[in-house]
Amino acid sequence: MLTVEQALDLIEENVGPRPAQRLPLGDSLGLVLAEDIVSDSDSPPFDKALMDGFAIRSADLQQAEVCLKIVGELTAGQVPTHPVGSGQAMQIMTGAPIPDGADAVVRVEDATIDGDSVRLRGGPVKAGRSILRRGTAMRTGEVVVPAGRQLRAQELGLLAELGRSTISVIPRPTVALLATGDELVPVDQVPGPGQIRNSNETMLAAQVARAGCVAVPLGIARDDERILEQKIREGLECDILCLSGGVSMGKLDLVPATLARCGVREVFHKVHLKPGKPVWFGVYDGPDGRRRCIFGLPGNPVSSMVCCELFVLTAIRALSGSPSRPVPVSARLVTAHSHHDDRPTFVPSHLEFTFDGPRVTPVGWKGSADLRSTVDANAMTLFPPGTKNYVIGDVVDVYPW
Ligand code: AMP
Ligand code: MG
Repeated sequence: MLTVEQALDLIEENVGPRPAQRLPLGDSLGLVLAEDIVSDSDSPPFDKALMDGFAIRSADLQQAEVCLKIVGELTAGQVPTHPVGSGQAMQIMTGAPIPDGADAVVRVEDATIDGDSVRLRGGPVKAGRSILRRGTAMRTGEVVVPAGRQLRAQELGLLAELGRSTISVIPRPTVALLATGDELVPVDQVPGPGQIRNSNETMLAAQVARAGCVAVPLGIARDDERILEQKIREGLECDILCLSGGVSMGKLDLVPATLARCGVREVFHKVHLKPGKPVWFGVYDGPDGRRRCIFGLPGNPVSSMVCCELFVLTAIRALSGSPSRPVPVSARLVTAHSHHDDRPTFVPSHLEFTFDGPRVTPVGWKGSADLRSTVDANAMTLFPPGTKNYVIGDVVDVYPW
């Protein structure tokens, strides 16, 4: 059976970034940039004042104090109409362009105005004091944000400074969700005998939303090949189709065979992990040439959740052009933990970042159907296969949710 690492390798081998698209800058947070952004201007575009004060010639303030004649006032947004000569000072506000002739700004705290003159203290001053020179932050022609960068607030701000109101980015994949099972009823219904609510759809939609994607819920498919096939075909419109239930060895586990009939090529079925062993992954190349990823997640809620974290989110990142592997944090156990299982096990856990480093506490988890205990968890701890009594302070790999 495949290891988790091998399964992740297969997802990465089979899934690449979606084609780039032009999107409004404001819709691009978290997306990966698909073009190099080259500056078309210097920043700042002119020498500007860094302080409220007086623009002067530094040669005029080579002693402790000087009295200069005020020859005007400049606020941010105005342009100087005349230069500053020897013996003169122009009152200037932060952000305003430095007038010709001036080469320093003396802050207002060091100035006392007396009629049309100003007494300036704090000398001697050097040329350049409190001035931000044109092009200090960036120069025309420089690549300021390279293609491949995931866009955060600071990149978006810089692109706004450059006037890039639309940009080329890798759009987020669309994700269809399909719950399968004769026993399932919608969340707003009272389950009859033998029935349960379809909790996976809401949970998976939230996991997908946390990864920045909008889920398309397709509702519940009965364990009936015809109904399943029809719903699967609907789901293949999206970049990812994520089914839950119906991938194990039961009589009504019809998902793998029905996917095959829909033309989906199996890449793997079953991974050596707990919970989530029956997980299924395949690809479908649509008539439009676009590749879809299809996941069959085991129906038990925690299995679905863990497999979504490990495998579906990896595919979302690969389709989005981001580094795709889930990355663990090394943390010290706060409580002792006995592990006895031949499968690597992902145990719902509470991870905390403390002054002494990351700490983790496995929550009392009762297995793949126990969604209740995950409410106390914000991560999963990986315990490798085997029998081991972990003690307080042992270092383990933890995957934050
Ligand atoms: P299956 O993988 O279809 O064999 O289902 C395994 C277990 O998960 C069964 O107890 C199902 O009732 C339960 N289950 C399946 N689908 C869902 C769902 N959408 N929401 C909650 N539980 C589910
Ligand atoms: Mg089922």
